[in-house]
Amino acid sequence: MRVKQTPNIWAIGDCADIPDPSGNPYPPLAQHAIREGRTLAENITSAIRNRPLNPFVYQTKGSLAALGHYRGVGRVYGIRVKGFLAWWIWRSYYLMRMPRWERRIRIMLDWTIALFVKNDIVQLDLDRIGQEHVEQAAKEIPHAHVDRRFGITDDAGPVRVPGNEVGSR
Ligand SMILES: Cc1cc2nc3c(=O)[nH]c(=O)nc-3n(C[C@H](O)[C@H](O)[C@H](O)COP(=O)(O)OP(=O)(O)OC[C@H]3O[C@@H](n4cnc5c(N)ncnc54)[C@H](O)[C@@H]3O)c2cc1C
Repeated sequence: MRVKQTPNIWAIGDCADIPDPSGNPYPPLAQHAIREGRTLAENITSAIRNRPLNPFVYQTKGSLAALGHYRGVGRVYGIRVKGFLAWWIWRSYYLMRMPRWERRIRIMLDWTIALFVKNDIVQLDLDRIGQEHVEQAAKEIPHAHVDRRFGITDDAGPVRVPGNEVGSR
């Protein structure tokens, strides 16, 4: 974590190449970055007080991935998990990483409600609104009609009107 040639510079997390006891770099994961931060803080304090520094040593606890539809895969403390259990562990872990119980309870309630109600999705039907606008504009232009490729078109080709950006003349 202390840059070898530049002892006043320290690095942790994704931007650092921190070797494990066997010399291989630790993976760029949050579970490492958080713990590296603690060790780094202690080491900076030790450096200021001329005390020996501690190497960063940490055994990866596992990794989990959510696959959607309440399913996941992963390995926790060397044990392979999959399906609903993996998804549940994944979600519970991230819930517990949230600061303050007040926020955790809010999220828990939100997730519980989401199990019983449909997704809260708003979709604006912009294509339909745009098409209605183009058709209305075409009616107001003599000899014009709506072409699927060029929008409003008359005998001389596409007509330039607001909302008919595909055509120009
Ligand atoms: C899609 C994705 C999924 C991941 N999933 C997981 C996971 O499930 N489990 C896990 O353990 N890890 C996961 N990771 C990895 C994890 O996010 C990183 O390992 C972790 O965030 C590294 O922490 P960090 O503090 O080094 O960097 P970051 O979290 O990236 O923090 C760096 C911060 O520095 C700020 N910054 C950058 N440049 C400047 C500047 N010039 N001045 C000021 N601020 C600056 C950035 O805005 C950022 O906030 C995932 C990463 C990605 C991209």
